[in-house]
Amino acid sequence: MTKSFLMGNQAFAHAALEAGVRVCAGYPGTPSSEVIETVAKLRDAGSAHDVYVEWSTNEKAALEMLAGAALCGARTLFTAKQVGLNVASDPLMSLNYIGVEGGTVLLVADDPGPISSQTEQDTRRFASFAKVPVFDPATSEQGCAMIAAAYDLSEKYHTPVIFRPSTRICHASTFVEVADETHARKPEGFENDPSKWVIFPGRSYRGHGEINERLPKIAADFSASPFNPWREVAGTDEGAKIGIIAGGVSYSYAEEALAQIEEQVEATGALSPSYRLMQVGTPYPFPEAAVAKFAEGLDRIIVFEELDHVIEDELLKLCGKLHAGFEVQGKLTGTTTTRGENTVDAIRMQIQEFFGLDLPVAAERTVEFSDPIPERPAVLCAGCPHRGAFYAVKKALGRRREAVMCGDIGCYTLGNAAPLNAVDTCLDMGAGITMAQGFNVIEPDKKAIAFVGDSTFFASGMTGVANAVYNKHDITIVVLDNATTAMTGSQPHPGTGATLMGGFSAPISIQEVLSALGVKKITKANPLFADKAIEAAREAIDYDGPSAVIYESPCTKLTKAKPPVYFIANACAGCRKCVTTIGCPALGWSEVGHSIVINRAMCVGCGLCTDICEYGAITCPTRKRVRPALPPRSQRLHAEDGSLSRFPTPQELAEIEGGSDD
Ligand code: SF4
Ligand code: SF4
Repeated sequence: MTKSFLMGNQAFAHAALEAGVRVCAGYPGTPSSEVIETVAKLRDAGSAHDVYVEWSTNEKAALEMLAGAALCGARTLFTAKQVGLNVASDPLMSLNYIGVEGGTVLLVADDPGPISSQTEQDTRRFASFAKVPVFDPATSEQGCAMIAAAYDLSEKYHTPVIFRPSTRICHASTFVEVADETHARKPEGFENDPSKWVIFPGRSYRGHGEINERLPKIAADFSASPFNPWREVAGTDEGAKIGIIAGGVSYSYAEEALAQIEEQVEATGALSPSYRLMQVGTPYPFPEAAVAKFAEGLDRIIVFEELDHVIEDELLKLCGKLHAGFEVQGKLTGTTTTRGENTVDAIRMQIQEFFGLDLPVAAERTVEFSDPIPERPAVLCAGCPHRGAFYAVKKALGRRREAVMCGDIGCYTLGNAAPLNAVDTCLDMGAGITMAQGFNVIEPDKKAIAFVGDSTFFASGMTGVANAVYNKHDITIVVLDNATTAMTGSQPHPGTGATLMGGFSAPISIQEVLSALGVKKITKANPLFADKAIEAAREAIDYDGPSAVIYESPCTKLTKAKPPVYFIANACAGCRKCVTTIGCPALGWSEVGHSIVINRAMCVGCGLCTDICEYGAITCPTRKRVRPALPPRSQRLHAEDGSLSRFPTPQELAEIEGGSDD
C-alpha cells in the first residue's frame, strides 16, 4: 500500500479497482470524468490488471454494455455526471428489475451550484425513483470505503447500487492509502436463463416483487451500517433535546461549523445546549431504525443537505409513522439553504440560530490579495476554432435573414456570449438539432440552425439528424468538429478512433454518418479561414431541406501554439472590427493608446483575426493573406496642427462611411 495525495475521483478509481472491478465505462461529464481517466492510466501503467475500460458513446451505451458484463458475473463500474444518468435511466430502470450477477456500481456525480451543469437534480431522488440503493459520502476517504461496501451490497441483493459523490468530494484532494497493484475478479460466466434475463411483463411483475422484498432488508442493513453514525455531545444543559442530521459533504461542513462554535463557546463561556449529530450516508432506502433511535426524545431536528430535501422528507415521514413529536427544520421551513452549495459559514450561522446561541459575530474568513483578482468571464479560448464557426454562420446569414440558433452542450455553448451572440437556446445533449426542427415547424420563415459538437454528435445527435431527414425539416446542422470532447478535458470519441485500451479503431466519419442518414447537402471548411468558412455556411443555409456544414479544426488544447500575430499600427484604421466581432480574449482595444492590443502570451496564432481585419493591420507569420488589404484609411481624425490625434470612434466611423456591415 502507498499513501498518495489524490483527488476524490482518483481515489474512487483506486477503490473500485481494489474491489476487483473488471469492466469500467462512462461518458465524460464534470465532475465525474477523472474516474475513468484514472482507471485507464493505472491500466496503462501496468498496475491495474485484467481491467477493461472505455469511454462509451453515451451513458446509455455505457450502462447497457456494463449490464452485459454484469450478467456474466463481472464487477462493473459506470460513471457519469448527474444529467448523464437521465440518458442511462432507461437501462437502469429495467436492470434493477432483472437484477445483476456481478457487483454493479453507478458512480453518479452531483453538481450543487450548479457549477458545470444544466440542472441541480439530486441523484438521491433518482435512486428512490428507480428503487436503487444509494451511498452518499461526506469525504473521499469515506467514499472509498462506501465503494467497497456498494459492490458487496450489489452482489448480496443482485441490485445495481448508486454511489453519489458531489463536486467538492470529487474534486477535493487528500492523502489516501492505495494498493500498489490490483487484480480484477474473475467472472463466473453467463448462465443462460431467459425466464430471468428477458424482461417480459411477467418478469417485470416478478422483478418488482423482488425489489419490494429486498428494499426493507437493505434498509435494515443500512441501519446497522457504519455510514450512518451518530453521537451525543454534552452541553451545559442535561440530555440532548435537539439534533442535527446531515448528508453528503454537508456533514463535513456541519462538523467543521460545530468545532468552530465549540471553540467560540469555550472562549466566551456562553451556555451551549447538548445535541445529537448524525450522518445519513445511505439515504435510500432510508435507514429508518437508526434514525428513529437517534430521534428518540428529541424535540427539534435540523437537516443539512445539498440539492433536494430528501432526508428532510424521510424524517417527516418517520415522524408521522412513529407518531413522534419532533419538529423538523430544513429547506422546507426555509431554515437552511434551498439551492446551490452549502458552506461551513452558512451552516455555522444556521446552527447558532438553531441552538439559540448569541455568539459574537466571527471574523470573516477572507483571504486578502494585494491586487484585486480580475474578473474572468467564461469565454471561448484564444484561437478556439468555434469562434470562426459562429462568425462564419452569422456572416452567411447576413443581416436580412431571420434565424434562430440552437446551441448544445459543450464549450460552444459559450457562443452565446457577446460579441458572437450566436446561441439562442441550449437544453440538453443533442437537443440543438431536434429543437431546431420545432422552430422550423412553427416559424418556417426563420432559418433554423443547430450547432453540435463532434462528441455530442455521436452521443446524442444522430437520432435528431435522422428525424430531420425523415420528417423533412429544413434545418442546417453545424457540426463543430474539434477532434475531442473538449469541455470535460479532451477525451476521445468515436470520431477520433482513439480508445482507452490503447491503439486506434478506424475513426467514424461524421460526413459519412450524415450522408448515410440522408443529408443531401454537406459542406466542409476550416472555420479559422473566414472566407471559405462563410462560403461553406452560405451554401448549406441556402439549401432547401436538411443540410449540414462540418467545421473541422482541432481544439487549441490538442495542438502546439503557433507564433502570435503582429499588429501593424500604421495600417490600422481604428475600426475595432477585430475586437468587436469575434471577441478573442487575446485581442483588446486600448483607450490609452487608441489602438488594438495583442496579448502575445495568449495568442496562439490561429490567424482568424487577420481575415477579419480588412486593412491588413494584423498579420500572421504562418498564414498568407488571401484577401487584398484595403489601403490605410484617410479618415483618421487629425488635430488642428495636422498631427494624428486619435482614431474615430465606431459611431464616427459609421457616420463617415455610411454604416458598417457588422
Ligand atoms: S480590424 Fe484591423 S483596422 Fe480595424 S481595429 Fe482591428 S486591426 Fe485595426
Ligand atoms: S490569431 Fe488573432 S484570433 Fe487567433 S488567437 Fe491570436 S489574436 Fe486571437
